[in-house]
Amino acid sequence: MFNYSKYTNFTWRENLKDWGHLISCGKARLSMAGSAASGLEVLLSTLQNSNDNESTLNILSVLDELLSAGTDRRIYYMISKGGSEALLRTLVSSMKRVPPNDIVLLPLMQLLAKVGHRDRKIGHKAEEAEAVHPTLSLLRCSLHDQRRATACLWVLRVFASCVSTAVLLGKEGTIELLFKLIPKYNLKQTHTIKATIDALAALLNSKTNSRHAVDRGYVTTLIKLFEDWHYTDLENQYVPLRRSLLHCLRHVTSIHAGKKALFESDGISILYHTTQDLLGKRGVELLVTSATQIMRKCYPKCPLPVPSSQSVYSFPVPGRPESSHSCDSSSHDGNLEDESDEEQLENEELDTKEEDEDLETDLRKLCIRPEPDRTRQDLKQYERFFPELQSDFKDVDRSEEASFEVKDILGDNSEKGLKHSEKHSSGTIRNNCSSHCGSSDEQVQKSKQTHRSCETTGTAVSELYQEARSFHSPHLITMRHEMLSILLERHQFSIPGHDPEIYTNFAAKTKSIAGYSLLAFPDFWGHLPLPYQQSIAERNDGVQRKKVFEDIQRLLNPGDNIDKVVFDLETPSLHYNSEDSESLCFFSRFESGNLRKAIQIRRFEYDLILNSDVNCSQHHQWFYFEVSGMKAGIPYRFNIINCEKTNSQFNYGMQPVLYSVQEALQGRPHWVREGNEVCYYKNHFSQPSSSKGGQKGVSFYTLSFTVIFPHNDDVCYLAYHYPYTYTALQTQLQLLKQSLDPEMVFFRHQTLCNTLNGNPCPVITITACPRSQNWNNVQQFRNRPYVVLTARVHPGESNASWVMKGTLEFLCSNVPAAIMLRETFIFKIIPMLNPDGVINGTHRCSLSGEDLNRQWMKPDINLSPTIYHCKGLLSYLNGIGKPPIVFCDYHGHSRKKNVFLYGCSIKETLWQSGSTASTTTVKEDPGYRTLPKILDRIAPAFAFNSCNFLVEKSRQSTARVVVWKEIGVLRSYTMESTYCGFDQGIYKGFQIGTRELEEMGAKFCQSLLVLSNNLLLHDKKLTSHIPAALDLDDPIRDQGSYSILEDDEPPCVEEIDYHSDGCSDHEWDGGDFDTEVYEAVANFSEKSKEEDDKCQQEKNGLNNSKKKMCFSSKPSQHLPAAEPSSQFASRHSFDVSSNHHYLC
Ligand SMILES: [Zn+2]
Repeated sequence: MFNYSKYTNFTWRENLKDWGHLISCGKARLSMAGSAASGLEVLLSTLQNSNDNESTLNILSVLDELLSAGTDRRIYYMISKGGSEALLRTLVSSMKRVPPNDIVLLPLMQLLAKVGHRDRKIGHKAEEAEAVHPTLSLLRCSLHDQRRATACLWVLRVFASCVSTAVLLGKEGTIELLFKLIPKYNLKQTHTIKATIDALAALLNSKTNSRHAVDRGYVTTLIKLFEDWHYTDLENQYVPLRRSLLHCLRHVTSIHAGKKALFESDGISILYHTTQDLLGKRGVELLVTSATQIMRKCYPKCPLPVPSSQSVYSFPVPGRPESSHSCDSSSHDGNLEDESDEEQLENEELDTKEEDEDLETDLRKLCIRPEPDRTRQDLKQYERFFPELQSDFKDVDRSEEASFEVKDILGDNSEKGLKHSEKHSSGTIRNNCSSHCGSSDEQVQKSKQTHRSCETTGTAVSELYQEARSFHSPHLITMRHEMLSILLERHQFSIPGHDPEIYTNFAAKTKSIAGYSLLAFPDFWGHLPLPYQQSIAERNDGVQRKKVFEDIQRLLNPGDNIDKVVFDLETPSLHYNSEDSESLCFFSRFESGNLRKAIQIRRFEYDLILNSDVNCSQHHQWFYFEVSGMKAGIPYRFNIINCEKTNSQFNYGMQPVLYSVQEALQGRPHWVREGNEVCYYKNHFSQPSSSKGGQKGVSFYTLSFTVIFPHNDDVCYLAYHYPYTYTALQTQLQLLKQSLDPEMVFFRHQTLCNTLNGNPCPVITITACPRSQNWNNVQQFRNRPYVVLTARVHPGESNASWVMKGTLEFLCSNVPAAIMLRETFIFKIIPMLNPDGVINGTHRCSLSGEDLNRQWMKPDINLSPTIYHCKGLLSYLNGIGKPPIVFCDYHGHSRKKNVFLYGCSIKETLWQSGSTASTTTVKEDPGYRTLPKILDRIAPAFAFNSCNFLVEKSRQSTARVVVWKEIGVLRSYTMESTYCGFDQGIYKGFQIGTRELEEMGAKFCQSLLVLSNNLLLHDKKLTSHIPAALDLDDPIRDQGSYSILEDDEPPCVEEIDYHSDGCSDHEWDGGDFDTEVYEAVANFSEKSKEEDDKCQQEKNGLNNSKKKMCFSSKPSQHLPAAEPSSQFASRHSFDVSSNHHYLC
């Protein structure tokens, strides 16, 4: 205990009086620093022991002044010194007096509210001090005394911030009491009413109390009260009070019964209509936000309108019973985190700590190279993929070339290495052209008639399409061919690097599960990048809210909903319904197409459901579908309602892409960013009720956008990103080969293996032919280091294919840098690691339902043949002592902007994880950083700031980590390209287009040339040409992004509340509460002054010596905020000679 006798020179009363006097005169600056840490304890101790009103008041006054100046830190300091306990004990003893003495009680309770409000344990402390019951009793007997009742309510509200205290109060009938105290609209006692509602809200924060309130029917009472106040407070003068009512509702609806009660008492309708009145008015924003959150929370969950979340397509996986799917929830632990390929910041809530926990901290695991998973014998089969290393390469390459041509034409898969996969694809549902080669004259005749009768305007094309569909025949590709010829003849249009006829021929060989017989127009007609860049879309205020309100209207006015299924993969009869002019027509049964179902909700609004990955019940992100039968100039709203990710770049300026057939035929064959009012938010759909697979309790998200189509009756395509099909790749490879001079460029197109569904997976070799057959030249040719590039392991990441297209075209071009590159390196490229996924419109997985980029450690030859053989190829190179100098796997990233690399570093991983393992003994070549640094300098799309070189446990079976660790490739990367756009460099503010993606592919090659220069890989003669070849002095391209460290996302205009259970407003904001108490006290004082004045007039000069103390909770206006340099300590003999600083 404090020892008074130590301070012999100190006279309490006088000093305190002196203090109080100084404070009230504003003469003293209170020193908080350098003075008396224990001075506070003295005050607190005196407070509890004082039996004298005046001293108590003085101390309270001093404390109040001390706490009002400066920041909250003073209050926290006081709490740490037992301030709450002291105030509570003082309160308990004050309350014992009969009758209660308001002169002490009111300021005491006011101070207690202020301090307790910031003390997390105030409830427990109050229970310990036995202050809870007396306060409640005091409230009960003060119901007619506004001031005292209000003070009691503040204190009770503060006590109830501890759940156990709230429950205790609930058991004592406090909830009933408070409900009795809240009158309808009543302007006389607004402060008391507000205090009552706030106390109630605090009580309802406990689920027990909420349950109790729901049982007593109070949800209806609350919603009626809210409605009453809304319609009477027309001037919006009592917004905080109405908001408090919403707080109560929000708490009570955090339990299921509360949601139900609110719904049943018409609460959603009341909240909806009251909110509509407030839109666009000033100062009521928080009411709207709060009410919207409650409505979203209480919107009854309804199952997704599909029979099961399983994909409509299934594929018999070799060695696996048909019913079991690897993507079921059981194998995923409900963890969507790992879904994100290399997406480090997948989940908004994932904090850095969790990320760091994913880092590999075991030095042994990081450093030790695992045993190779194949024998030398196993690797022999890969020899044939290295024709450049054969002894007589000229002969070899000719024969290879020839044999490939034959295979290509015949579709022959008799090669040794292909047998295993071919065998397993026998169960495939094959319905492609080659298996139905008979022809029906009638149909062909009909199609010819159609062509003849049509002008090839857009309308005609549209009709042609609808007509075509009505056949539903395997000859459509043939028919298409014919139609195409007519179109090409009339439009005389050609796109560089694309050939519709070659595309159509390849399409006939592409094997899909559903047996696609139609081509999507943009794929065979081709796409040209727009002549300009498109800006990142601006986000308009309130878009999400507007959409949410429209969703709520569905619930409120179910009679207005059309709810008509207009497309369903499972109901083919719906596919060709072109007669209904009131509905749009949807279609997705074509390569890379993904749309499972379309439901017309309102005249111009459709809910769309995406198909899960094959043999899966999830991964809904990629979409690509056709829409026709539209009217021009009308905004159509599309909602993709089964998205899974918790946030999306669609909330940050990204738009879907649109392709119009009519525009294309008029000479503008572009995929363009399109769609207004784009937003992404949590919706009210849940797993389909009968769903076997899928995660229980998973919430879905809606991607909503509005499209105004440019033409009437057009045929348009909408996609998540610029589509790039497997057939497009085959076409591109064919055209590339045709464009080359075989004497100059060594270009080989081989088949790595067949996929599960029997599609050949191409592997490309590109280098320069030796200058001559003399020994030196041939040796130089064979000794060139290897670069291995792969892409599109994730089918939904079509951006990766466009980057790869840029790489391939650059490498085959005749620009000096490309010639030098070919002379320097041998490129092995597997441009599409997951052809089946791309063909069948999956987002993430292969037909086995597995993420192929999680199979690299132990790829299964039967389930993941492309990965197995790609790894085999790399292991072969390693085995012959030629591990690649660079390996890079191209991907797309849905959460970040720009293009960047992920690499692998032991040291950086250990540092980042805060590992204690010593890195001094670890020898690591920092060369892995060179390539990204070069890219940062030469590629405008690239951002070094977004790169990292960490090895995560969850990524241990990705290509990047396995190639680094097992094959020993120092420069093993994942290259991530944004789906969205750029926030740095010269492209800042623009969305990414195919031109930028292709450019990135070319820049990647150029960076290899700079790297080779750094590594002195070629002779001096060549080296001197490199800067000129790369145009490195171009100042524009030199804009690096080293300097600015920006957040991933710039702040948004509107706070994005994509979760319905988010809580953006803080009811416990200390400042708000203080202001409120201050205002109430000022108000009471004002009234009481009037009364006093009246009294005084009546009593006419009667000696009224009792001085009323008016406490201020606001920082005193007349008193300058205390400065640490204040002279208080030196002025007074209040020497505690302590080194404690009151404030630090
Ligand atoms: Zn990926």
